Amino acid sequence: MVRFENVTKRYDALTVLDNLNFDVARNEKVTIIGPSGSGKTTVLRMLMTLERINEGCIWVDGEPLTHMQKNGRMVLASDQHLRRVRGKIGMVFQHFNLFPHMSAIQNCMEAPISVLGLPKKEAEARAAELLDMVGLGDKKKHFPIQLSGGQKQRVAIARALAMRPKVMLFDEVTSALDPELVGEVLNVIRKLGAEHDLTMLMVTHQMGFAKEFSDRVCFFYGGKIAEQGPPERLFGNPQNERTRQFLSALL
Ligand code: ATP
Repeated sequence: MVRFENVTKRYDALTVLDNLNFDVARNEKVTIIGPSGSGKTTVLRMLMTLERINEGCIWVDGEPLTHMQKNGRMVLASDQHLRRVRGKIGMVFQHFNLFPHMSAIQNCMEAPISVLGLPKKEAEARAAELLDMVGLGDKKKHFPIQLSGGQKQRVAIARALAMRPKVMLFDEVTSALDPELVGEVLNVIRKLGAEHDLTMLMVTHQMGFAKEFSDRVCFFYGGKIAEQGPPERLFGNPQNERTRQFLSALL
Protein backbone atom coordinates (compact mmCIF):
# COMPACT_ATOMS: atom_id res chain seq x y z
CA MET A 1 0.00 0.00 0.00
CA VAL A 2 2.90 2.33 0.81
CA ARG A 3 6.40 1.97 -0.60
CA PHE A 4 9.54 4.06 -0.15
CA GLU A 5 12.14 3.08 -2.74
CA ASN A 6 15.69 4.35 -2.12
CA VAL A 7 14.32 7.61 -0.75
CA THR A 8 16.76 10.30 0.30
CA LYS A 9 15.71 13.58 1.86
CA ARG A 10 18.17 16.35 2.68
CA TYR A 11 17.90 19.77 4.25
CA ASP A 12 21.05 21.46 2.95
CA ALA A 13 23.94 19.40 4.34
CA LEU A 14 21.71 17.37 6.70
CA THR A 15 20.59 13.99 5.36
CA VAL A 16 17.31 13.22 7.13
CA LEU A 17 16.32 10.09 5.21
CA ASP A 18 19.19 8.08 3.88
CA ASN A 19 18.35 5.82 0.93
CA LEU A 20 15.29 4.54 2.79
CA ASN A 21 13.50 1.39 1.67
CA PHE A 22 10.24 0.83 3.50
CA ASP A 23 7.03 -1.05 2.65
CA VAL A 24 3.70 -1.12 4.41
CA ALA A 25 1.20 -3.76 3.31
CA ARG A 26 -2.54 -3.21 2.90
CA ASN A 27 -4.23 -3.16 6.33
CA GLU A 28 -0.92 -3.50 8.12
CA LYS A 29 -0.49 -1.55 11.38
CA VAL A 30 3.06 -0.23 11.57
CA THR A 31 4.62 1.84 14.33
CA ILE A 32 7.71 4.00 13.86
CA ILE A 33 9.86 4.61 16.92
CA GLY A 34 13.29 6.15 17.32
CA PRO A 35 15.27 8.99 18.85
CA SER A 36 14.49 12.65 18.22
CA GLY A 37 15.68 13.75 14.78
CA SER A 38 15.85 10.23 13.33
CA GLY A 39 13.43 11.14 10.50
CA LYS A 40 10.17 9.63 11.81
CA THR A 41 7.94 12.63 11.16
CA THR A 42 9.64 13.29 7.84
CA VAL A 43 8.42 9.89 6.59
CA LEU A 44 4.81 10.88 7.26
CA ARG A 45 5.23 14.40 5.90
CA MET A 46 6.67 13.04 2.68
CA LEU A 47 3.73 10.71 2.26
CA MET A 48 1.44 13.72 2.56
CA THR A 49 3.67 15.45 -0.03
CA LEU A 50 4.33 18.20 2.50
CA GLU A 51 8.03 17.73 1.70
CA ARG A 52 9.91 17.20 -1.56
CA ILE A 53 12.21 14.23 -1.87
CA ASN A 54 15.73 14.50 -3.28
CA GLU A 55 16.11 10.96 -4.60
CA GLY A 56 14.07 7.80 -4.92
CA CYS A 57 10.36 7.24 -5.27
CA ILE A 58 7.35 6.93 -2.98
CA TRP A 59 4.32 4.88 -3.99
CA VAL A 60 0.85 4.93 -2.47
CA ASP A 61 -1.63 2.26 -3.52
CA GLY A 62 0.44 1.54 -6.63
CA GLU A 63 0.72 5.19 -7.72
CA PRO A 64 3.98 7.17 -7.65
CA LEU A 65 4.18 10.54 -5.93
CA THR A 66 7.17 11.55 -8.02
CA HIS A 67 8.25 11.35 -11.62
CA MET A 68 11.74 11.04 -13.00
CA GLN A 69 12.62 13.79 -15.47
CA LYS A 70 14.86 13.23 -18.50
CA ASN A 71 17.76 14.90 -16.67
CA GLY A 72 17.45 12.34 -13.85
CA ARG A 73 15.89 14.76 -11.34
CA MET A 74 12.91 13.60 -9.29
CA VAL A 75 9.96 15.98 -9.36
CA LEU A 76 6.53 15.82 -7.79
CA ALA A 77 3.77 14.46 -10.00
CA SER A 78 1.15 16.87 -11.34
CA ASP A 79 -1.14 18.65 -8.86
CA GLN A 80 -4.14 16.76 -10.12
CA HIS A 81 -2.41 13.39 -9.69
CA LEU A 82 -1.12 14.35 -6.22
CA ARG A 83 -4.58 15.44 -5.11
CA ARG A 84 -5.96 12.05 -6.09
CA VAL A 85 -3.20 10.12 -4.31
CA ARG A 86 -3.33 12.39 -1.26
CA GLY A 87 -7.04 11.71 -1.07
CA LYS A 88 -6.21 8.14 -0.11
CA ILE A 89 -4.36 9.31 2.99
CA GLY A 90 -5.62 10.81 6.22
CA MET A 91 -3.23 12.39 8.69
CA VAL A 92 -3.67 13.26 12.35
CA PHE A 93 -1.15 15.67 13.86
CA GLN A 94 0.25 16.19 17.33
CA HIS A 95 -1.42 19.62 17.64
CA PHE A 96 -4.87 18.69 16.24
CA ASN A 97 -4.91 21.46 13.58
CA LEU A 98 -8.70 21.82 13.80
CA PHE A 99 -10.38 24.86 12.20
CA PRO A 100 -10.99 27.01 15.31
CA HIS A 101 -13.97 28.87 13.86
CA MET A 102 -15.88 25.68 13.01
CA SER A 103 -17.82 23.34 15.31
CA ALA A 104 -16.79 19.69 15.61
CA ILE A 105 -19.29 18.62 12.97
CA GLN A 106 -18.38 21.48 10.62
CA ASN A 107 -14.71 20.47 10.93
CA CYS A 108 -15.68 16.99 9.74
CA MET A 109 -17.91 18.24 6.89
CA GLU A 110 -15.66 20.87 5.34
CA ALA A 111 -13.33 18.76 3.19
CA PRO A 112 -15.93 16.18 2.10
CA ILE A 113 -18.01 19.07 0.72
CA SER A 114 -15.23 21.23 -0.73
CA VAL A 115 -12.87 18.50 -1.94
CA LEU A 116 -15.10 15.47 -2.62
CA GLY A 117 -18.13 17.54 -3.64
CA LEU A 118 -20.47 15.66 -1.29
CA PRO A 119 -23.94 17.18 -0.83
CA LYS A 120 -24.23 18.94 2.55
CA LYS A 121 -26.82 16.50 3.94
CA GLU A 122 -24.69 13.49 3.10
CA ALA A 123 -21.54 15.09 4.54
CA GLU A 124 -23.44 15.98 7.72
CA ALA A 125 -24.80 12.46 8.18
CA ARG A 126 -21.37 10.94 7.69
CA ALA A 127 -19.73 13.45 10.05
CA ALA A 128 -22.36 12.73 12.72
CA GLU A 129 -21.79 8.99 12.36
CA LEU A 130 -18.02 9.44 12.74
CA LEU A 131 -18.35 11.71 15.76
CA ASP A 132 -20.59 9.06 17.34
CA MET A 133 -17.93 6.48 16.58
CA VAL A 134 -15.22 8.46 18.38
CA GLY A 135 -17.56 8.94 21.35
CA LEU A 136 -18.41 12.61 20.73
CA GLY A 137 -22.04 12.29 19.69
CA ASP A 138 -22.99 14.84 22.37
CA LYS A 139 -20.33 17.39 21.36
CA LYS A 140 -21.09 17.84 17.66
CA LYS A 141 -21.92 21.53 17.96
CA HIS A 142 -19.00 22.35 20.26
CA PHE A 143 -16.16 24.51 18.97
CA PRO A 144 -12.53 23.41 19.48
CA ILE A 145 -12.07 25.92 22.32
CA GLN A 146 -14.89 24.15 24.22
CA LEU A 147 -13.24 20.73 23.94
CA SER A 148 -10.48 19.02 25.93
CA GLY A 149 -7.26 17.99 24.18
CA GLY A 150 -8.40 14.37 23.99
CA GLN A 151 -11.75 15.42 22.53
CA LYS A 152 -10.06 17.69 19.99
CA GLN A 153 -7.83 14.85 18.92
CA ARG A 154 -10.86 12.56 18.51
CA VAL A 155 -12.52 15.21 16.30
CA ALA A 156 -9.27 15.34 14.27
CA ILE A 157 -9.45 11.55 13.80
CA ALA A 158 -13.12 11.74 12.73
CA ARG A 159 -12.25 14.57 10.33
CA ALA A 160 -9.50 12.53 8.68
CA LEU A 161 -11.83 9.52 8.39
CA ALA A 162 -14.54 11.62 6.77
CA MET A 163 -12.43 11.62 3.60
CA ARG A 164 -12.61 7.81 3.50
CA PRO A 165 -8.84 7.28 3.39
CA LYS A 166 -7.18 3.95 2.76
CA VAL A 167 -4.15 4.91 4.81
CA MET A 168 -4.15 6.71 8.16
CA LEU A 169 -1.03 8.46 9.46
CA PHE A 170 -0.73 9.38 13.13
CA ASP A 171 2.09 11.69 14.15
CA GLU A 172 2.69 11.60 17.91
CA VAL A 173 -1.02 12.18 18.40
CA THR A 174 -0.91 11.81 22.17
CA SER A 175 2.27 13.83 22.83
CA ALA A 176 0.47 17.12 23.48
CA LEU A 177 -2.13 15.56 25.80
CA ASP A 178 -2.32 15.44 29.57
CA PRO A 179 -1.61 11.87 30.67
CA GLU A 180 -5.19 11.20 31.75
CA LEU A 181 -6.45 12.02 28.21
CA VAL A 182 -4.08 9.72 26.34
CA GLY A 183 -6.15 6.58 26.92
CA GLU A 184 -9.33 7.87 25.27
CA VAL A 185 -7.44 8.70 22.06
CA LEU A 186 -5.58 5.38 21.99
CA ASN A 187 -8.90 3.57 22.52
CA VAL A 188 -10.31 5.21 19.40
CA ILE A 189 -7.24 4.23 17.38
CA ARG A 190 -7.44 0.68 18.73
CA LYS A 191 -11.10 0.47 17.71
CA LEU A 192 -10.35 1.85 14.24
CA GLY A 193 -7.66 -0.75 13.71
CA ALA A 194 -9.94 -3.56 14.84
CA GLU A 195 -13.09 -2.56 12.96
CA HIS A 196 -11.95 -0.94 9.72
CA ASP A 197 -9.93 -1.94 6.69
CA LEU A 198 -7.23 0.64 7.11
CA THR A 199 -3.50 0.70 6.65
CA MET A 200 -2.15 2.52 9.69
CA LEU A 201 1.25 4.11 10.13
CA MET A 202 1.99 5.70 13.46
CA VAL A 203 4.89 7.63 14.96
CA THR A 204 4.67 7.31 18.71
CA HIS A 205 6.50 7.44 22.00
CA GLN A 206 3.85 5.22 23.61
CA MET A 207 5.82 1.98 23.66
CA GLY A 208 3.13 0.05 25.54
CA PHE A 209 0.58 0.91 22.88
CA ALA A 210 3.03 0.18 20.05
CA LYS A 211 3.61 -3.25 21.54
CA GLU A 212 -0.03 -4.14 21.81
CA PHE A 213 -1.31 -2.50 18.62
CA SER A 214 1.28 -2.99 15.89
CA ASP A 215 1.84 -5.80 13.45
CA ARG A 216 5.36 -4.43 13.03
CA VAL A 217 7.56 -1.91 14.79
CA CYS A 218 10.31 -0.04 12.91
CA PHE A 219 13.16 1.52 14.84
CA PHE A 220 14.56 4.51 12.94
CA TYR A 221 18.08 5.73 13.47
CA GLY A 222 19.88 8.31 11.33
CA GLY A 223 17.25 8.31 8.59
CA LYS A 224 17.26 4.55 8.12
CA ILE A 225 15.42 1.60 9.60
CA ALA A 226 18.01 0.21 11.98
CA GLU A 227 15.77 -2.67 13.03
CA GLN A 228 12.21 -3.84 12.46
CA GLY A 229 10.05 -6.76 13.41
CA PRO A 230 7.00 -7.94 15.30
CA PRO A 231 6.63 -6.02 18.58
CA GLU A 232 7.24 -9.04 20.82
CA ARG A 233 10.61 -9.58 19.13
CA LEU A 234 11.70 -5.97 18.81
CA PHE A 235 10.80 -5.05 22.36
CA GLY A 236 11.56 -8.44 23.91
CA ASN A 237 14.77 -9.29 22.14
CA PRO A 238 16.22 -6.36 20.16
CA GLN A 239 19.15 -7.35 17.96
CA ASN A 240 20.61 -3.95 17.21
CA GLU A 241 22.75 -2.19 19.80
CA ARG A 242 21.07 1.17 19.00
CA THR A 243 17.63 -0.30 19.58
CA ARG A 244 18.78 -1.77 22.88
CA GLN A 245 20.19 1.59 23.99
CA PHE A 246 17.06 3.47 22.93
CA LEU A 247 14.70 1.07 24.70
CA SER A 248 16.76 0.81 27.86
CA ALA A 249 16.91 4.63 28.13
CA LEU A 250 13.09 4.65 28.22
CA LEU A 251 12.84 2.31 31.18
P1 ATP B 1 11.10 13.99 16.95
O1 ATP B 1 10.92 12.68 17.68
O2 ATP B 1 11.92 14.97 17.74
O3 ATP B 1 9.82 14.58 16.45
P2 ATP B 1 11.76 12.95 14.28
O4 ATP B 1 12.45 11.63 14.28
O5 ATP B 1 10.30 12.94 13.96
O6 ATP B 1 12.04 13.67 15.67
P3 ATP B 1 12.00 14.71 12.02
O7 ATP B 1 10.97 15.70 12.45
O8 ATP B 1 11.65 13.78 10.94
O9 ATP B 1 12.54 13.90 13.28
O10 ATP B 1 13.31 15.56 11.64
C1 ATP B 1 14.49 14.93 11.23
C2 ATP B 1 15.60 15.96 11.13
O11 ATP B 1 15.29 16.89 10.08
C3 ATP B 1 15.81 16.79 12.39
O12 ATP B 1 17.18 16.93 12.62
C4 ATP B 1 15.16 18.11 12.05
O13 ATP B 1 15.80 19.18 12.75
C5 ATP B 1 15.38 18.22 10.55
N1 ATP B 1 14.35 19.01 9.89
C6 ATP B 1 13.03 18.73 9.85
N2 ATP B 1 12.34 19.64 9.13
C7 ATP B 1 13.28 20.55 8.69
C8 ATP B 1 13.22 21.74 7.89
N3 ATP B 1 12.07 22.17 7.39
N4 ATP B 1 14.39 22.37 7.66
C9 ATP B 1 15.55 21.94 8.15
N5 ATP B 1 15.70 20.82 8.90
C10 ATP B 1 14.56 20.14 9.17
